[in-house]
Amino acid sequence: MHQPPIPHLASADPELGRLVEAEAERQHQKIRLIPSENYVSAAVLEATGTVLTNKYSEGYPGRRYYEGQQVIDPVERLAVRRAKELFGVDHANVQPYSGSPANLAVYLAFCQPGDTVMGMALPMGGHLTHGWSVSATGRWFRSVQYGVRQDTGRVDMDEVRDLALAERPKVIFCGGTAIPRTIDFPAYAEIAREVGAVLVADIAHIAGLIAGGAHPSPVGHAQVISTTTHKTLRGPRGAMLMSDAEHASALDKAVFPGLQGGPHNHTTAAIAVALREAATEEFRAYAHAVVANARALAEALVERGYDLVSGGTDNHLILVDLTNRGIGGKPAARALDRAGIELNYNTVPFDTRKPFDPSGIRLGTPAITTRGLGVEQMPRLAGWIDEAIRAADRGEDAVLDRIAGEVRELLAGYPMPGWA
Ligand SMILES: *Cc1c(COP(=O)(O)O)cnc(C)c1O
Repeated sequence: MHQPPIPHLASADPELGRLVEAEAERQHQKIRLIPSENYVSAAVLEATGTVLTNKYSEGYPGRRYYEGQQVIDPVERLAVRRAKELFGVDHANVQPYSGSPANLAVYLAFCQPGDTVMGMALPMGGHLTHGWSVSATGRWFRSVQYGVRQDTGRVDMDEVRDLALAERPKVIFCGGTAIPRTIDFPAYAEIAREVGAVLVADIAHIAGLIAGGAHPSPVGHAQVISTTTHKTLRGPRGAMLMSDAEHASALDKAVFPGLQGGPHNHTTAAIAVALREAATEEFRAYAHAVVANARALAEALVERGYDLVSGGTDNHLILVDLTNRGIGGKPAARALDRAGIELNYNTVPFDTRKPFDPSGIRLGTPAITTRGLGVEQMPRLAGWIDEAIRAADRGEDAVLDRIAGEVRELLAGYPMPGWA
């Protein structure tokens, strides 16, 4: 049953209530390996379901355009203070609706349409909003894109430097959605300094690892830090922009009134709760366990002959190139889902297949670590993944259904926040 319980929803709208219960059960029964997903705590869920959603509060604490902010102001101040303390930054804005609007605010703050911007290409592991062609950021700005080396699967900082010197971007984004290796923030900072660009560290995927001390921090290197709050940070769907004092007011003006109207106060409250949780010793242990699990899972997959982009992982994420297995990422992901193992198909760098039918799968350990799985379970998980991929190739659905049963049996012993 969903936790906290949803009796009012279930009686007022049985159809929707059943769908919510079904999703809770599905999340309980699946090994969830999508690296951008997690399980938030019941406390975070409760905060998102409060009457704070009823309130309009355009502006910032102490400078609002609506009356009645006696409670909302302290809520937002609490979230801001906790963000500043947790990450050790001068400034935090907790209002961006999600990661993509947060990044859009960065462009609005520091660029004019047509300006040169630089980011990692989407098929190389970057994010759409880092200047990819189909995104507004790629259409309204002159975007130059860097990638990884074909032989190492890693970013070559000399290549990034050469490109930056030749193109002179105003803003440089580092970070992405499919980067299995540690991001060298000091090296990016040196390049940005050399060309006079604002360095933006988009830590959406790794914010929780940074907060927990399991990945180096960009603070002191990147002037601007953009992050979602719902990935490894384990908060509600939302985002934050953090910065040094110099870039603070441009960012604030870009978020409001530049881009958004009223902040989502229920989300702000839940972000505050998540930030409090992320400041605990338990969360530090969690962040390190996420990385230990990813390493163990990567090793077990390599032992079974899987080809990992860059050969392994330093963080929470693994990118597998299935080319040597003779199966595409999409049919593999579909079969794994039937086997109770949820991940996503993904482009690999220099992919020879099409983006909607690429060669790779992307997986990660944030959610299963929240459930309490440890390194001792990773060889078994790799075994299931391997067996399911082989079965997919031969169309053996019975094998997939058998694995799904074994997965359910294992997970019955691991509590899920949000489920009782
Ligand atoms: C997830 C992600 C985003 C976008 O976040 P949304 O909340 O999905 O808009 C931006 N940048 C990076 C690097 C991400 O991983």
